[in-house]
Amino acid sequence: MNITVIGGGVGCARFVKGVREHAQRSGRDHRIDVVVNTADDWWVSGLRIAPDHDSLLYALAGVNDTVRGWGRDDESERVAAELQVWGTAPEWFTLGDLDLGTHIARTAWLREGLSVSEVYRRLGARWDLGVTLHPATDAEIDTHVLIEGAEPIHFQEWWVRHRAHLPATGFAQRDIADAAPAPGALEAIARADVVLIAPSNPVVSVGPVLAVPGMRDALLAASAPVVGVSGIISGAVVRGMADVCLAAIGLETSAEAVGRHYGARATGGLLDGWLVDTSDAHAVDALAPAGLTARAVPLWMRDADSSARLAADALALAADVALAADAH
Ligand code: GDP
Ligand code: CA
Repeated sequence: MNITVIGGGVGCARFVKGVREHAQRSGRDHRIDVVVNTADDWWVSGLRIAPDHDSLLYALAGVNDTVRGWGRDDESERVAAELQVWGTAPEWFTLGDLDLGTHIARTAWLREGLSVSEVYRRLGARWDLGVTLHPATDAEIDTHVLIEGAEPIHFQEWWVRHRAHLPATGFAQRDIADAAPAPGALEAIARADVVLIAPSNPVVSVGPVLAVPGMRDALLAASAPVVGVSGIISGAVVRGMADVCLAAIGLETSAEAVGRHYGARATGGLLDGWLVDTSDAHAVDALAPAGLTARAVPLWMRDADSSARLAADALALAADVALAADAH
């Protein structure tokens, strides 16, 4: 079975590990592809940083720092201290030594003329990930945050330096009008038996992937059912600041609102199915008139078991909506 996941970052990494775990336990052959958000990427100290990709890479390789929740395990910061002295790195952005190794390799390959897709391939080849990562696009589409009465700032400055406290009025991906989906992402969507939208930040992780011109059309043209998983549980984020991003684009922080935001395929949206947490079971009936088949299951990913069970629930809902579509 070909499973293609869309997302980016830590929530996506947890979910993809669950999908991989479920696939291994099932004993059947699976191919897992992930279309990764690239709009968190930015240039710092002359290096190209790709936080969503690296969160996935490190977590899938098992070399991530599980206590801090991001970056490499057993990390040090000697180089960053030197960069501070030279005044070439912002003091609010942590750059670990091992992590810098990744950024230097990536930047070197980009400067040799490799595409972002090729760089993903090289970085992923180091470990047996059991998953193939594809950038949503090979173009640079860094997110900038629109601030009332001020110039837009790069997403990382808003998110990390200002902890999302500067009042945002919206998000824009620079040069996205000229971007196109990366060929590997398009192939992964076309060959998918099921497409899963990870419980990632809907505004700044999943949003920019869907905003790449051609990406929505590719999803709508695909024969696979599309099932999303809510990253919002009981009206709150599990971790991170997605609530601030939702508010900035005028959306309530609830599983129901995010389901409506992605929309049902039947009404021009994206989703065939939507998983909400058992604590949000009321959203199942509330979303039915909007044409969305929702189901309430436990959405907390605490460990390998709970993450694998969530993946199984997402695949079961995909199978059910596909059956229902066939019956019509
Ligand atoms: P980031 O780019 O590292 O911020 O990561 P993502 O965009 O992938 O993930 C952030 C989202 O993951 C947040 O909205 C969280 O609420 C969600 N998330 C994190 N852990 C869990 C979990 O255990 N279950 C669910 N359903 N969502 C989670
Ligand atoms: Ca992200």
